[in-house]
Amino acid sequence: MNAPVPMMTLVNALTIDVEDYFQVSAFDQHIHRDTWDQMPSRVERNVEQLLALLEENQAHATFFTLGWVAQRFPALTRRIVAEGHELASHGYGHRRASDLDHAAFSDDIRSAKALLEDVGGAAVLGYRAPSFSIGKKNLWAFDCIAEAGYCYSSSVYPVQHDHYGMPDAPRFPYQVRAGLIEIPITTTRLFGRNLPAGGGGYFRFAPYNLSRWAILRVNRIDKRPAIFYFHPWEIDPEQPRVNGVGAKTRFRHYLNLHRTQARLRRLLCDFKWDRVDKVFDVEAA
Ligand SMILES: [Zn+2]
Repeated sequence: MNAPVPMMTLVNALTIDVEDYFQVSAFDQHIHRDTWDQMPSRVERNVEQLLALLEENQAHATFFTLGWVAQRFPALTRRIVAEGHELASHGYGHRRASDLDHAAFSDDIRSAKALLEDVGGAAVLGYRAPSFSIGKKNLWAFDCIAEAGYCYSSSVYPVQHDHYGMPDAPRFPYQVRAGLIEIPITTTRLFGRNLPAGGGGYFRFAPYNLSRWAILRVNRIDKRPAIFYFHPWEIDPEQPRVNGVGAKTRFRHYLNLHRTQARLRRLLCDFKWDRVDKVFDVEAA
């Protein structure tokens, strides 16, 4: 086998939102959080597979991990750090910022940071809001994130979407307030609109070449690194099916799960990848 030749010299940022399949926001009406502990868990095996995939490709990534997961899988959390990846926070219990008030949101993100640092033994600089749930109506969330001691957030996907998105937010990293930068998920600009270029469902729905084209476009035309995200459950076609969910949610969650791993392999070969803090030069304040 020939060694993969990266197309670009720019290094992009690879990010993984570490949560189990039953914790996704689209299922929260069907699976009560009090029952999470009884659900058959898949996150450990899925993250282990991802760690192996990254090692094969000598790539590093940022793992935005739920405090809930770190608490139950401390060895896995420590392994993420030991293998040279960045441990970051996805909050404690996958609570959307848009569903919480100031105090409850602060509690969630503070307890996650303390727990991840305690378990992982490394400083946690970054936070990503579940479901990109920071928008015009709750910009106060950025104050909470900074006050909780995070240095960066990656909580905005500047696209039009029914569940999330601030389509007119900046497309590239910007200072939100003193001590905090926002690193939005990558989009490419075409015909006056932002198109998703940073993963999520789009990576599974559309052919791989579209993602590749969009990232290349950002690297070549904008001359900027991309930031791309996905979830451990997206490489797991065997995950237990959640009953009673609507057709749209079912389609979004289960489509092309069997193709994701192969697509990630191509993505890892076609581009160079590293952790967010390295790609965007984030330093502890
Ligand atoms: Zn999430």
